[in-house]
Amino acid sequence: MIQDIYPHIYRNEYKPKAPQKESFLLIYKGREALLKESEEICFPTFGEMELYDSALCEKCTYLFSVDNQSFYLAEDFYGDIEGYCWKDAEMFRRLKPQHLAFAGITGCQLHRWYQSHKFCGRCGRKMVKDDRERMLKCEHCGQMEYPKISPAVIVGVTDGNRLLMSKYAGREYKKYALIAGYAEIGETIEETVKREVMEEVGLKVKNIRFYKSQPWSFTDTLLLGFFADLDGEDKITLDKEELALAEWFEREDIPITERNISLTNEMILYFKEKKNIDI
Ligand SMILES: [Zn+2]
Repeated sequence: MIQDIYPHIYRNEYKPKAPQKESFLLIYKGREALLKESEEICFPTFGEMELYDSALCEKCTYLFSVDNQSFYLAEDFYGDIEGYCWKDAEMFRRLKPQHLAFAGITGCQLHRWYQSHKFCGRCGRKMVKDDRERMLKCEHCGQMEYPKISPAVIVGVTDGNRLLMSKYAGREYKKYALIAGYAEIGETIEETVKREVMEEVGLKVKNIRFYKSQPWSFTDTLLLGFFADLDGEDKITLDKEELALAEWFEREDIPITERNISLTNEMILYFKEKKNIDI
């Protein structure tokens, strides 16, 4: 999955410090990132970009490190520079190396958060960065804002040797997926699993087992993957607003998608490859 970057280590302790010449700069414009023109992901360094903006240091916010390499967000830096190009953040799904793809999309989530919390939502004054934790605060009214992370579930609904697979309605993603949805306020994550399965396909589930989680910065989400057994009737009642189709697949008939960065795909492969039915 995209966050599995071993032997590299992602360090997100918030310890702001001044950038060094070799620090990587993450520069975004909307959902585009500035990269060196190259087949692989290559971020500009502070030393390279300093030449184009003498006030660059003040525009930089420390984000995180991977191993000993520090990453900074450079805000309001929109120049077109020879040898660099703007690329849509979706490319972090496929370009290598993976530890830089993970850093790039994680930085993009933080960029969107900083951009959309410049002013206090309560009193409208300017927010300032806290120096002890990754938090924005309003010095006038005391409002505090933390990075936006929305919990969501992915559910592999199983019935013995069968797995329920679905396709989204009205989305570009055309491959088979599993039932998924965001947690609502006031419910446990297990209740989210039951509600989403009922809403999307009209089925009851039991024996809900946690599988793995995944930070999914493309949509500011923390994905929580579960398997759950069908409880009772297997007749699907489709929510056509959400899904184009949903159907049961015998384990051996499950369509294969290449291994990729998503938890959904890992869960589908895990079920298909598992000889033991009782996962
Ligand atoms: Zn305020």
